[in-house]
Amino acid sequence: MPVMRLQSDLLTLMQHYLDHHATTPLASAVEHAMAPLWREAFGNPASVEHARGLAAADRIDQARTDIARALGAEAREIVFTSGATEANNMAVLGAARFRKKHENRDGVVVFAAEHSCVLGAAKALVDEGFRVTVLPITPQGFADLDALEAALDERVALVSLMLANNEVGTIQPMQQVTTLAHRFGAWVHSDAAQAVGKIPVDVRAIDLDLLSFSGHKIYGPMGVGALFVRRRPRVRLEPLVHGGGQERGFRAGTLPLPLIVGLAEAVTLAQTHMQSDADKHVALRDALLEALAETTIPFSVNGSMEHRLPGNINLSFPEIAREPLFASLADAGIALSSGSACSSHDVAPSHVLTAMGINPLLAQQTLRVGFGRSSTLADVHALLAALDTAHRKGG
Ligand SMILES: *Cc1c(COP(=O)(O)O)cnc(C)c1O
Repeated sequence: MPVMRLQSDLLTLMQHYLDHHATTPLASAVEHAMAPLWREAFGNPASVEHARGLAAADRIDQARTDIARALGAEAREIVFTSGATEANNMAVLGAARFRKKHENRDGVVVFAAEHSCVLGAAKALVDEGFRVTVLPITPQGFADLDALEAALDERVALVSLMLANNEVGTIQPMQQVTTLAHRFGAWVHSDAAQAVGKIPVDVRAIDLDLLSFSGHKIYGPMGVGALFVRRRPRVRLEPLVHGGGQERGFRAGTLPLPLIVGLAEAVTLAQTHMQSDADKHVALRDALLEALAETTIPFSVNGSMEHRLPGNINLSFPEIAREPLFASLADAGIALSSGSACSSHDVAPSHVLTAMGINPLLAQQTLRVGFGRSSTLADVHALLAALDTAHRKGG
């Protein structure tokens, strides 16, 4: 009991949530759209023999259409998954295995700043006899296109590059990547978990073959996401999950009706909010940077300012050691992470920052600020005050 009380106290104290790259709270419109589907309007969309099942299938169709429209895709190009991790694994493992088996393509190319789930899937392919290449990124966080060109040949099955980075917010020149890769017949997959809903994403305009995203990064529910799988020219995958033939055989399993309807609502809502969210987040980011510049605290910005997610800023503080930094943030009730959530338990520096050439010590004195819909200037002021305290405590 005392432990539980302590935890809820800590949650109330966390007044300043600046970790929207890790997850976002459910939007109330999404909660309302999902609510009837758990009980009154429940149903298995595969139960085509009765009205309840058919109604569920209709809701799924509508959700698929709404999501496809937001991405410039066709409804039947959308495959539902449990999130971006699964969609990324499905894309990388599924495309590589299919093309090796049927086309003798055994090369897989990824970049050093990818999410651990893409890097992990690529690494797993080494044991299956694939030639896996991990390419460098530039100090600004961009894919090294010369290295990509050198790595491409007629045996590369897949290139995987995230659309926007989850630590430094760098938005990649995806069209150049797809043009290069397609010259060699390689398919291109993009992890767009941080891009969908934040910046315009049109799969045709950037000529992508596969694209992943997730519900809980865009004020939708946790546990649902989707993979866009191009139809023309046809992209095919070896399935990871076998079973009842759902999702055209790509991914078996009963479709989670409430989560999928919630995902579609979140995507639609994000389209509506995109410009106003972006304007607000850029204003908060500028306010933070301007105020920081007026302090005596030395800092540097990681990643490109020009091609950057509006809600992201990633800052290193050479004069503030990690311990006082995170202690002051916790005291001030600020929820912030130093890098990707998955790796923040251990003290290992972020693989993204080190790939950008930032030294491991400085990488640990780094904050990833992620603004969201509920963020205000009060959050910025609290962060500035906490940084000031940490700086005065010394490094
Ligand atoms: C959050 C995130 C993921 C993982 O998504 P889940 O839906 O939580 O599995 C993958 N890639 C990026 C870039 C992310 O930000």
